[in-house]
Order: sequence, then C-alpha cells, then structure tokens
Amino acid sequence: MNISVQICGLMNILVLLIFYSGAKQLNLYKRRVFYYILLISAANLCFDIGSVVAIHYQNTLSSWIVMLICRLYLCMIIIESIAAIIYTIADVFPKHIHKTIAGAFAVVCMSECIAIFYNPLHIFANGREVYTYGQSVNIMYICTAVNISIIWISSFVFGEKVRQRRKQAVRLWMLIWLFGMGIQTYDHSLIVGGFATSLGIMVVFFMLENPEGYMDNQYDCLNNVALSEFVDELIQNDEFFVLCSISLDNASHRQRNNEKEEKRIAKYIEYFSKMKKAHVFKTPDNSIVLVSDNTPDMKYLMNEFLDEFSSPVSGSQDHCIIWVENCYGITSFVEFKKLVRFFRNKRRIDETQFIHITREMVEDYQSQDKIKKEIKSALKEDRVEVFLQPIYNTEEKRYTSAEALVRIRNTDGSLMPPGLFIPVAEATGQINAIGRRVLEKTCDFLANSDAIALGIEYIEVNLSVVQAEKLALFDDIMNTVRYFKVSPKRINLEITESALIHSKEAIIDNMNKLRKVGFTFALDDFGKGESNLMYLVEMPFDILKLDMDMTKAFHVNRKAKSAVKTVRYMAKEMNLKIVAEGIETRDELFAFLKYDIEYIQGYYFSKPLPMPEFIDFVRKYNEEHGIRHCFDE
Ligand code: C2E
Ligand code: MG
Ligand code: MG
Repeated sequence: MNISVQICGLMNILVLLIFYSGAKQLNLYKRRVFYYILLISAANLCFDIGSVVAIHYQNTLSSWIVMLICRLYLCMIIIESIAAIIYTIADVFPKHIHKTIAGAFAVVCMSECIAIFYNPLHIFANGREVYTYGQSVNIMYICTAVNISIIWISSFVFGEKVRQRRKQAVRLWMLIWLFGMGIQTYDHSLIVGGFATSLGIMVVFFMLENPEGYMDNQYDCLNNVALSEFVDELIQNDEFFVLCSISLDNASHRQRNNEKEEKRIAKYIEYFSKMKKAHVFKTPDNSIVLVSDNTPDMKYLMNEFLDEFSSPVSGSQDHCIIWVENCYGITSFVEFKKLVRFFRNKRRIDETQFIHITREMVEDYQSQDKIKKEIKSALKEDRVEVFLQPIYNTEEKRYTSAEALVRIRNTDGSLMPPGLFIPVAEATGQINAIGRRVLEKTCDFLANSDAIALGIEYIEVNLSVVQAEKLALFDDIMNTVRYFKVSPKRINLEITESALIHSKEAIIDNMNKLRKVGFTFALDDFGKGESNLMYLVEMPFDILKLDMDMTKAFHVNRKAKSAVKTVRYMAKEMNLKIVAEGIETRDELFAFLKYDIEYIQGYYFSKPLPMPEFIDFVRKYNEEHGIRHCFDE
C-alpha cells in the first residue's frame, strides 16, 4: 500500500500537536484556530491513509464504506483550506465578528461538502497507483483552489492588518500545499498532497506558532512577543484589562548582566507566576509586565508584592511600578509601550516608586503624542511659520525691533498656537529643530527683506532652555547666521527662566560665547510666577521683558506698581533695557510711558503678523505716517 508518505505527514502533525498542547499558552483566538488546524490536518491525513486502505481492501469492504471514506477525505481537504482562511484573517477582525465570519465560512464549507457527496466519484486502483476521480474530485480541486486564492488575496487586501510574518508563513504554506497537490495530480502514484500540507503547517508552526517563541529564553515566563499579541487582541476585542509594569530602576543596559538583578527578576517572576492571578511577561528592558482582566486581583497582587518586597529590610525598594488602571482608548501595544516609557522617563529618580496612570493621564499622553506627530510632519512639510510682533521704541518713537513667534500651519490652513506645541516640543526634544527653523526663517527675513532699511535694528528670537543648555548651541546658531550673512547684533535671544533648567552653568557658558560675537540676550517673562532675581544677577542679560501678568497687575494693584518702579530702577542700575509685554490699551501704554520704559510690545500696537504684513506695517508707521497713530484718539 502506498501510504508511507501520508504516515510521515501524520507523524509530523502529531509531534506538533504534542508540543503545542503541552506548552504554556495564552488563550489567543489565532492560537485556538491553529490548534483546530492541527486537528483537522491530522484528521485529513487519517482519511487520506484510510481512503488508500479502503480502496486496497475494496473487495472485502462494502462499497458504501469505501465511498464514504473517500468522500470524507475530499471534504477534509476543503475544511482544512477553509480553516486556513480563518487563520489568515484572525488578526484582522474583532472577536464579535469572528463568530459571524466563522459561521459564514461554515455555510460555504457545508455546501461544498454536500456538492462532494452528491456528485459522482470513481475509484481507480492498479497496484501502487490508487486514486479517485470524477465530478466530486473536480469540485474538491476547484473549491480548494478558490479557497487558496482567497487566502492569497486576503493576505494582500488586509495587508496592513495582517502581520508581515504571518503573511509570509501563510503564503509559504499555501505554496507548498499547491506544489504537493500539483505533483499528485500529475502523477497519481505520488500521493504527497497530505504530506505537503503537513510540511506547510510545520512552516507556520516554526515561523509563528512555536510556543517556545512566546517564552522568555532566560526566565520561566512569557516574552514580549506574547505580550504584544495578547495586548493587541484584548484591544481589538475591546476587552477590559489592567496592566502593571514593574521595572528595576537600576536594571539599565549597563547592568543587564548583573547576576544580582537576574536573581531578583527570577524571584519576582516566580512569585507572580505562583499567585496565578495575572499573566506574567518579561520585556527586553528587564521589566515584568502583569496583565489581568480583574482590577481587585491586580490590586491584591500589588499590595502583596509591595508588602513582601518593599520593606527596607529586604532592601529591594528600587523598582518602579506603573499601574495602567484603564486601558480604554489605547489603540495598540506599541502605543502602550510608548505610554509606559513616557511615564517612567517623566518620573524623577527621587520620586515615587508607584505611578498610577489614570484614564485622564492616558488621554493627556495621547493628545501630546498627537501633537508630537503633528510637529514632526509640520517640520517635514515646512509648515512651521514665523510671525513677527512689532516692538515700539519709546525713545525713538518708532518700531525698532520685533519678536519672532513661531506658529504651526495646520493642514486645513488654521494656525496652531505655540502654547499648545512648545511644551510638547520641549519634552520631546523637537524644540531644537523648531528653534533652528525659526532662526533660519528670521535670518532669511533679515537678509532678504526691507526690514533693516525700514529701521528694524534687531529681532528677538525665543530660545528654550532646552536649547540654551545644549553644548552645540553656539555652532548651531553661528552656522545659521553665517549662512544667511546676518550680523549677530541683529539677533536678540530671549530666555525664559524655567523649571526645565538643569545646568545654569551650561547656559551661562553659551551666553558668554554668543555675546562675545555680538548676540544680545533678554530675560523673558520677568514677573510671571515665581521670578528669581538670581537669574538677573548671574546671567549676562541685556534686556528684561516684563511679563504681561506684571504689566496688567501694574494698573490695578498698588504693590505691583511699586514692584515695577523698583524693577525699573534696578534695571537702570544693571544697565538693562526694559520691554513691557502685553500692552493692550491706550491707558496701559501711557502709564508705562511715564515710567521711562524703553520698549513696548502688545496688541495695542499690533498682534504678531505674517512677515509680508509686518513689512507693510513697519513701512506704514515708520516711514509714511510716523508713530503718531499710537497716540491719536
Ligand atoms: P512670549 O515669548 O512671552 O511671547 C509673547 C506672547 O504674548 C506671544 O504669544 C504674543 O502673541 C503674546 N502677546 C503679545 N502681546 C500681547 C497682548 O497685548 N495681549 C495678549 N493677550 N497677548 C500678547 P504667542 O505667540 O502665543 O507665544 C506664546 C509663547 O510661546 C511665547 O511667549 C514663547 O514663550 C513661546 N514661543 C513662541 N515662539 C517661540 C519660539 O520660536 N521658540 C520658543 N522656544 N518659544 C516660543
Ligand atoms: Mg518671548
Ligand atoms: Mg514673554
């Protein structure tokens, strides 16, 4: 009997079944489908062998039994190809649609099987050459070919949603299967169709479904691949889950091989695994991630863990726990990873070990992430614009400077104000690219417009402290002004005192270098929040910008008035000029003029303007009408 190849195929599938059902597994939909494929494939090979045996003994067996086995074999091939379709698109749809899809395919499968049963089937047996033929067999070939084509097509149609590796594995499986069926059709004595499927399934097993691929190779728990697939499926199915990430603070790259750390991780993993209240994963950055669908269970786990491992006696306090209480709204595992990393990095070393991420925090993070992407594309597509706000010189009674204020032009043409994206850009480091772009556009403007001829002596450019601390700042700025051939004296750099300052020394160093070649500096937003006079004392500023809060308070608050007077006096002593920001009314303007403030900036004169409008504005008031308009009723 010609069944040795099929027996080999069956052995392959049985070995896979043993491995698969014995391994630690996550209850993922696609894993269940793959398990059924293994069972179907085993049944297919059994019927394949059974049909050869039945045909061999057709004289001793009753003919309806032989026919039944042969027809069932044909049906199993169709069932297997349909199961392969369901497996291919397992990533694509959420849980509630899976049932509908499986139901629809079951109906298709049933009708194809009925067609096989109700059409003629003939048997050919001549020594080792044993096969079936007739309408039933043709139907099986056609249906299987259609199903295989559906698998190929769906791996393209759902290209984005089906993981690359899954596409490759399934396509390879189908190719091997088609090849096997082709050989069998060409030479009926080579019954290799069933064996070819078993080979194809082995390919899928080793490329995608090997349970070992889901296990951490150092610790006895699931790995990052398993975590990613698990979380993605939970998200896709809109299922509630709680996630906790426990990282050892000093488990950095440097110490990854530290034996002590490894022992601790192993101890924690064993501890959580024993509790059996959550799935335990280990990620490549040496964090342990727990996922559960039950908040009380997770709370219990955390409390027990903290009791056990956070006592000063055990000396294991240097872990950071991030608890994501509600994963609603997170769209993928990748977003999850970014979210956890974001909050972990945000935490300062001396801060709490336990970070509780609420739904609001997730939403905040998401809007920040959206802005981050928006900044990235705005920089790429040159949608970063610079507006200029004229600054009035009270001595010369004309506009002699302006402040460069950045804007992002949204794709719909509207403008995104800097208050929205500057804090994000500072947190992500994108401020360096934005700052460079603003300086480039400002220099380009100074070099290629009539601004200087119209009396604009310099432009104030905001410099975030994140930029101001950078070692490469001097070279960056010099490269730009040199490129546009703009003299450094045309640029005044504004710095705002900020909690973001890490190293005042680095800033002072940069300021000194830049002042030496001719740049000047302004202390921005003086009087806003808690202003620290030491900035003025320690840093070499040329201009002091009174914040709008201060200028507004000046009119309503006697104390603020005397504070401004004192600042005025102090500035004179320190040889600093003053810009009053946020002047909106005529009264405010006149009040400041009385105090001999050198520069005035505010909506009273003009809002920040696009560059061409700024030129028109300055031309109109500096040249044609003079500045009288400010004082006219
Ligand atoms: P800032 O440097 O203090 O800029 C002054 C802000 O006050 C500007 O807001 C300006 O439009 C606004 N302003 C001026 N006069 C008035 C007024 O009379 N009334 C009112 N209500 N507001 C007035 P803007 O353009 O929204 O900028 C906000 C902040 O964003 C800036 O405050 C600055 O800290 C930051 N920023 C703007 N451009 C840049 C930039 O290129 N780089 C950096 N690092 N930060 C920038
Ligand atoms: Mg400013
Ligand atoms: Mg300001």
